[in-house]
Amino acid sequence: MAIHPVHTNPVDLWSMNRGVAIYEPMDDGRDFILKDFNRMAEENVPIAQQNLIGSKITEIFPNIAECGLLRVLRSVSEDGVPRKHPATMGRDNLIMGCRDAYMYRLSLGEVVMVYEEMATQTKSEMALLDSELRMRAVMESIHAGIVIIDPIEHLIVEANPMALKMIGAERDKVVGHRCHQFICPAEVGECPITDLGNNVDNAERELLNIKGESIPILKTVAKVTLQGREHLLESFLDISQMKALENKLREMATIDGLTGTFSRGHLMELVQNEINRTLRYGEPLSLAIFDIDHFKKINDTHGHQAGDLVLKGLCQLCKDTLRDTDVLGRIGGEEFAILFVENDLTGATIAAERLRLKITESDYICEETSISCTVSFGVAQFYGIGDSLDRLFKRADEALYQAKNLGRNRVCQPAL
Ligand code: GH3
Ligand code: MG
Ligand code: MG
Repeated sequence: MAIHPVHTNPVDLWSMNRGVAIYEPMDDGRDFILKDFNRMAEENVPIAQQNLIGSKITEIFPNIAECGLLRVLRSVSEDGVPRKHPATMGRDNLIMGCRDAYMYRLSLGEVVMVYEEMATQTKSEMALLDSELRMRAVMESIHAGIVIIDPIEHLIVEANPMALKMIGAERDKVVGHRCHQFICPAEVGECPITDLGNNVDNAERELLNIKGESIPILKTVAKVTLQGREHLLESFLDISQMKALENKLREMATIDGLTGTFSRGHLMELVQNEINRTLRYGEPLSLAIFDIDHFKKINDTHGHQAGDLVLKGLCQLCKDTLRDTDVLGRIGGEEFAILFVENDLTGATIAAERLRLKITESDYICEETSISCTVSFGVAQFYGIGDSLDRLFKRADEALYQAKNLGRNRVCQPAL
């Protein structure tokens, strides 16, 4: 490479085993023209020399301002104080990292930059830089929220655009802040990241956005090494819609659509749970089954829709009359069960009788027609060890059958 003479007599920069380049400040002092550079510098810039001499430094290295090097270059040009900068300059998707760029002002105002080139950096440093760049590209483009956390301080050190969008805040409101302010707020103090993520988290968690709204997320955690230090990369997806659907499905499985009482399946589960508690703690437990009397006639006289209205109204009346601890469920068409927790046969019979009277006294208005009905009850108590859910239901059912046989609109207990 032809070396242009330098006006001053600096040390023999051109034979140095360092990249050397000389820049002349432009008139406004804001940009610099590349005047010359040595072989080592040329190797670092994969573009023929003739294309570069005379070019502006801001054109050669479009990110020179961003990486802070331009500011330092200007300072050196203005006050002549030599400076050092750990620069990373980029061009055409290539990052040309030059560590420790030393800048000196020459007597005619040019600034000479001497730097350790990329070529002298170790392979592992290159690989690290490369992997960090790749990771950044993934973080920017992925449709999942990603934050990088310093696991010692529990600080968010990086957040991708999707994470900022989900949190609903600008970068400076997130980066540098405690991770629990936004992610897994309930887990401060017992967070799995306190053990550096060894107990890797992969579960449904909570994200708190800037407005304080809770968003369900599915979160995974992975360890990453950044700048030689262990960090945690947490990625998460907003699962609000999935959760809403799941809740709807759960509700559909546990709640009867027409009456809003528990479904048969869920009621059976609740009864079995209470039976288990009774077996453990010995508290009494009773069950009542009731069936609307001559309901077919109501349907036949007023129509199926009116029948539905009666079913709904009747269940509302039951809910209003029963205690909060009593459990009401629909076990068939117009047949319902009530679990009287901590109630023996006598207590349950009194409660059933009170409810029966209320039902008898009530009516339901359907298209200006008042419809009333009566119900028949069978009540049974759980015996304890040796008894079962099936037997309890069978006894209550037999008592109900007896109530129907004795003329309906009454409460019966199992025959002794
Ligand atoms: P009983 O006093 O012996 O219980 O007489 P019943 O007429 O109530 O007994 P039956 O079992 O013969 O009739 C029950 C009726 O309940 C028949 C069925 O069409 C009606 N039914 C069941 N489920 C529903 C429902 O969801 N809506 C309406 N409107 N009717 C229902
Ligand atoms: Mg009936
Ligand atoms: Mg029936």
